[in-house]
Amino acid sequence: MMSKSFCDLPFEENYIHPNGKMRLCCTTIQDLPTDNNYNLFDASKHSIDEYWNSNRMKEIRRKMIAGEKVRDCERCHRQEEHGVQSLRKTTDMEQHIKETAADGTYSKPATAMQLQMGNICNLKCKMCSQMYSHMHGLETLEIGKEDPDWLHWVKEQGANVNNWTNELGIRQEWYKNNKTKLKMFEHISKNIKHLCVIGGEPTLIPEFYELFDYCDQQDTLGDKIVTLNTNLTNTNPRLTRWLPKLGEWKIWASVDGVGDRTEYIRYPSKWDKILESLEFYRSMLRPNDGIVLSPAIQLLNIDQLDDIVKWWKDWCGGELNHQFGFTWLATVWYPLICNPNIAPREWRLRVADKLSKYKFDKKYDQIIKELRRDQHTIDKSKKLQKAFIKYNDKQDQFRKVQKTWRDLLPELELSLTKSLG
Ligand code: SF4
Repeated sequence: MMSKSFCDLPFEENYIHPNGKMRLCCTTIQDLPTDNNYNLFDASKHSIDEYWNSNRMKEIRRKMIAGEKVRDCERCHRQEEHGVQSLRKTTDMEQHIKETAADGTYSKPATAMQLQMGNICNLKCKMCSQMYSHMHGLETLEIGKEDPDWLHWVKEQGANVNNWTNELGIRQEWYKNNKTKLKMFEHISKNIKHLCVIGGEPTLIPEFYELFDYCDQQDTLGDKIVTLNTNLTNTNPRLTRWLPKLGEWKIWASVDGVGDRTEYIRYPSKWDKILESLEFYRSMLRPNDGIVLSPAIQLLNIDQLDDIVKWWKDWCGGELNHQFGFTWLATVWYPLICNPNIAPREWRLRVADKLSKYKFDKKYDQIIKELRRDQHTIDKSKKLQKAFIKYNDKQDQFRKVQKTWRDLLPELELSLTKSLG
């Protein structure tokens, strides 16, 4: 019988958040507590071995095996209740149960890892936050020095305009502790087959290259399937030495539009550099490797979704396949001003009509369907529309961008003006 509470991940995956906290996976927002139930596991202080069979991990496994739901997995359960597919996975449930002792100790180390290497990033993307980009936080602080009222307003607005959850401008660099870093490298080299590296921007972080170098010296690169999430603003010639030695690799390319649109959303990236980086990776592709375009669909690019797919297919040589893919992450919901559904209805319907003239896949159709559905009340939409204008006008002015959101999306500007009277 299909379990409603079990998930493979606490038996096979390690997850490190950008601030070094350890969690079950990328979906949960619960950090794992240490055995004193007071502190939290933190990669800058604790090793993977310390948390893997900790009291909380053992309790979670015991509960899952007994068919009880755990609070860390609330989000998956909620999604399933709403008929949405969650990340919960049960493919290896029987095997995992066999390999778990009665107290919840799992006899093997994890074989997969999602490693979020801090928050050092060179970009300040519209939908991002301090947790994933220290530059994003620094900029918010800088604007606040010029205009304290604006900063106060941003803080008050919370997740409406900026997912600001911790101290702005702080660099999260948990991997700077040599002792725990080396233990982590040893663990990855020895045990991890599927490694997904995210940042910040990993290619800017020296320890990311140290990890490859370490595995190369241990001769374990060939055992690994590596997914690298990158904003493509930076490549490093050393990758040409390591990528061909990996079992397989995939680049998840964070590009949110064509030309000046992605430059605007992923400020201050440059389109020419993105194209150059894509070619860099294409030149090393082997039959099982791949490049997957991974845009964050939002209000600032949804009208261009058909053009994004067409451009990508063109770049890939016509058709998508296992080497050249397109991945749909969920449409951006937070910050709410990035959510396409806050736009006036007539604009959304016009965009939906434009997009539906092009045929792609089911998820694309789903996004068009969602665009046609009213998801916020008119009052809430209007409040968020005003916040969208205030936030982006201020950022555009501070950044002195060549093209503002008003230049890039004149029809949206017109529609918002009408909507707000
Ligand atoms: S059920 Fe969901 S939240 Fe829980 S471990 Fe699995 S994927 Fe993560």
